[in-house]
This record gives sequence, C-alpha cells and structure tokens, in this order.
Amino acid sequence: MELPVVNHESYVAKIGDDHKFPINKFAELANYLINQKIVKRFNTPYPCSFETLNRAHSANYINNIRNKTLDENGVKKIGFPLVDSVVQRSLVATGGTVLAAKLGLKFGIACNTAGGSHHANYDSGAGYCVFNDVAVAAHYLLDRGLANRILIVDLDVHQGNGNSEIFKDNSHVFTFSMHSKTNYPAKKSISDLDVELDDNMEDKQYIKVLKFYLNQLNEKSFDYVFYIAGVDVHFNDHLGKLKISDEGIKERDEIVTENFFSKNIPLCGVLGGGYNKDFNKLVELHSFLHQSCAKLI
Ligand SMILES: [Zn+2]
Repeated sequence: MELPVVNHESYVAKIGDDHKFPINKFAELANYLINQKIVKRFNTPYPCSFETLNRAHSANYINNIRNKTLDENGVKKIGFPLVDSVVQRSLVATGGTVLAAKLGLKFGIACNTAGGSHHANYDSGAGYCVFNDVAVAAHYLLDRGLANRILIVDLDVHQGNGNSEIFKDNSHVFTFSMHSKTNYPAKKSISDLDVELDDNMEDKQYIKVLKFYLNQLNEKSFDYVFYIAGVDVHFNDHLGKLKISDEGIKERDEIVTENFFSKNIPLCGVLGGGYNKDFNKLVELHSFLHQSCAKLI
C-alpha cells in the first residue's frame, strides 16, 4: 500500500524572494517525493472552513487573517507579509493537516507536506505560524468522536507553545514537546511534558533521551498521535542550536513512527520547521518523515 500524503501547490506562498523563510521547500519536497518514488500521487486538500478553524482560533483572529485586517504588530509577530497567497496558504495547509489526520485514521498512518504551525495561539499567530493546523485537526477528530485521547509529539527544535496553550485545560490532548532550552520562544509555555535539551546536543544523547520519554508515553493510552517532525534540530540549521546529523534525524523519525504504528495507534505526520543552510539538504531531511512512514505501510 502507498502512504497517503497530502500536498497542494498553494503551500508555496508569495512572500518575496529575499525572505528568510525557505518557502520553496514545500514544492521541492513534493517533487522529491515523486522523483524518489516515495509517493505516486498526492491527496489534495481544501481550504479549512471557518467552523473548523474556529474550534482552535477566535472568530476575530480568523476574520483578521481572511480579511487581511490584522494589525501591524500581529503581522510582524507572524513574520510573513499578510497577502492573498499567505492567507490562502494558511487555509489550505490547515485543511491539509485535517485531511491527513482523517487519512491517518483510515490507513493507520498519513502525512502532510506542510503543517506543524505550533507557535500559533488561539487569537494570534507567531514565528511563521498563522493557524495551528495540528490544534485544528485535533479538535476536528475530538468533535466527531474519531479520537478521544490524542498525543502531540513535537520534536521541532522550538517549543510547541501554541499547542500547550490551546490545550492547557483540555484533558483529551496531551502535549509533549522536546526542544532546545535556549531557542525561541524565550519564555516557554507549559506542556503536559516538556523536555529541554542543552545546546550542541548530538545524536547519541538525543536518541537516548527520546527513547526514554517515548517509553514513558507508552505507559499512557492514546488513540491518536500527531507527530511534528521539525528538522531544525540539524547541526547545519540557521536557527536550531542542536547538533543532530542526517542519520540522527532519520533514526528519530523511524523510532517515533514505528513506535506508534506497531501499537496500531493512528498517526498523522506534519513537517514542522527547517531552515537548513543547504536547501537541497533541507528538502531531503524533511522527506525522512515520509520515507519512515512509507516503510511501515
Ligand atoms: Zn522550529
């Protein structure tokens, strides 16, 4: 069986050629997955509806994005220009994670080629995150009784502060964030389980710590998992302060996906961050998530 993967050409928004964010990675990742025969065809998402977004975001914030009326400070915090293609991208990428979540339920495992906008909060965006796609998709599953005890495994180098805020009083969603202690955000939120890593941590220690906490999580019972597979833990990342190698990221993705797949817990994988100094390497690193999942199915 082929791994279900969600992609849409509008994931590449027009943010300006000199923008720091490597937005073209979404198109290049799709090309890479096809060229490497990891995926034959993509599942196409719709823009996320107001009603679905509204479970994780305030009506005011959603409207301010859709109508491009968010104030200057709010836009600055996000870090993208608030133009039509960014609005469209935010809606479609969120719809993409909702679709991938449903495909994960149906086939046991599925991925988006975007997503993991974990800094977006109930009524604001931040750090290149407009809508919190995983929070939206988690609510979608809970509302329909498709899941009751959801785990978010967030291994992006930055803390998943949007998710920990959105779900802080929600006993149906458990937030696990393993991130660099000194990376953004300076003021961390409180997840159900936070693991703070020291700067310059390398593969061996990283994998050891990951396995230790996965074992702890395995003692709880979850019926759905979202995996935010940020590759900004790589040693050559512009932003991340860890020193994880290609092999370390590959091993990490294999461990996480195998851990839940082998227990028949449905999993939805999303990209998370990645700002590698080498663009082609960045695309390859992001593909490890899809490669790991494709091996299992
Ligand atoms: Zn990140």
